[in-house]
Amino acid sequence: MALTGMQIYKNLPKTNCKDCGLPTCMAFAMQVAAKQRALSDCPHISEEASESLAEASAPPMKLIKIGIGENSYEIGQETVMFRHEEKFHRRTGIAVRIPSSLSDEEATALVEKINKSAWVRVGDTIKVSFSAVEVDGVDDPGKRAKLVAENSKVPVILIGRDAGKMKSAAETIKHKNPLLYRAESSNIDTMAELSASTKLPLAVGGSNLEELADLTNKAREKGAENLILSFKTDNLGDTLRSLTIARRAALRQRFREFGYPAMTEITAEPLEEETVLGAIYAAKYSAIVLINGSEPWEILPILTTIQDVYTNPQVPNTVEAKLYEIGNVAENSPVMFTTNFSLTYFSVAGEVERSKVPAYICVVDTEGLGVLNAYAGDKISAEKVVKTLQEQKVVEKVKHRKLIIPGLLPIFRAEIEDTSEWEEVIIGPENAREIPAFLQKMAKQ
Ligand code: SF4
Repeated sequence: MALTGMQIYKNLPKTNCKDCGLPTCMAFAMQVAAKQRALSDCPHISEEASESLAEASAPPMKLIKIGIGENSYEIGQETVMFRHEEKFHRRTGIAVRIPSSLSDEEATALVEKINKSAWVRVGDTIKVSFSAVEVDGVDDPGKRAKLVAENSKVPVILIGRDAGKMKSAAETIKHKNPLLYRAESSNIDTMAELSASTKLPLAVGGSNLEELADLTNKAREKGAENLILSFKTDNLGDTLRSLTIARRAALRQRFREFGYPAMTEITAEPLEEETVLGAIYAAKYSAIVLINGSEPWEILPILTTIQDVYTNPQVPNTVEAKLYEIGNVAENSPVMFTTNFSLTYFSVAGEVERSKVPAYICVVDTEGLGVLNAYAGDKISAEKVVKTLQEQKVVEKVKHRKLIIPGLLPIFRAEIEDTSEWEEVIIGPENAREIPAFLQKMAKQ
């Protein structure tokens, strides 16, 4: 959280000695607050004041990194309670459990499945973020951890309460920076010492918020710095309340014991319920949701919720306004236009692809608005469409002069025909899903 000039000034020597090049300590404080000068530019500031200001200006929620290099995932350093206040910064990651009951072959197959759990939606790749391997119930925890870490293309979470087994697994793959899951009141000392000695991040869970605060304090005293608040999910209402209180305490009251990202372990059955709960906890402050299911139908609803919630509300979701070629287009391929709102474009492009009829899509810049919103907001007009078609030199691509327009904008037809070289304007479907049948019918004519 940014410090004010007055907060900084209170910690300065207040001698107005000018050694920093400014006439007064107050002027210096104002420049530090505006990030135009560094605190270290004052040669007389005491170590104590310097430390206290650094502490006060630290982010209210710590950034935690799991994994290494390209195969890493960052969570935390969130700044707001509600998305519309600014944005949520780091997407929730889904962790899929690899049970200890699986054989080595089955565990390897599940890791492969996790690696392949990735899909492209609205031009964005959404995927499972962690392989979460249980090490408590296996004979050789180091071997199982190594098998998963070597095959996983996403960071690893080690699940276990037995400190001895966790130590063996952690020591084997500590170079991969896995998350240790999880410390509780019964094992806090040994797990915190393990986290401190290996520098691995540690999830800490308590039976209630008071105990959780106590345990994060204990972990810090043992030298464990990179913590994650872990919540069980026996009761939806209680868990949501705890997640919300912890987040508010961290961001609004700067309560350091809760100044870490949170995660939830979902144990609900049937798996449909797990999916619903995963989406709810992802929307309400879980930086990681640990689930048991690994089927696409279970994972995709959670991933799409995460994608929607973590989209920056201050930046329109757009694609570049240009001429797109879908399939092997030729001079007789149909031409259509749509807006540059990502969801609109990818819906149209996806349905054109599905139709197997190669086509050109001219994308008009509507500042990220869909068709009807753009029309209502005066961001699209027949004149603008004609101008865009000319700028994109569409007539040079095809021999015909037929243009398909969105079914929601039939009003553009006459003006486009009257003012451009597009002699025949065809009113297309209102919904993208009707495009394949529409294009296939046109192709037969
Ligand atoms: S050098 Fe430090 S003490 Fe001197 S005027 Fe600048 S801020 Fe004040």
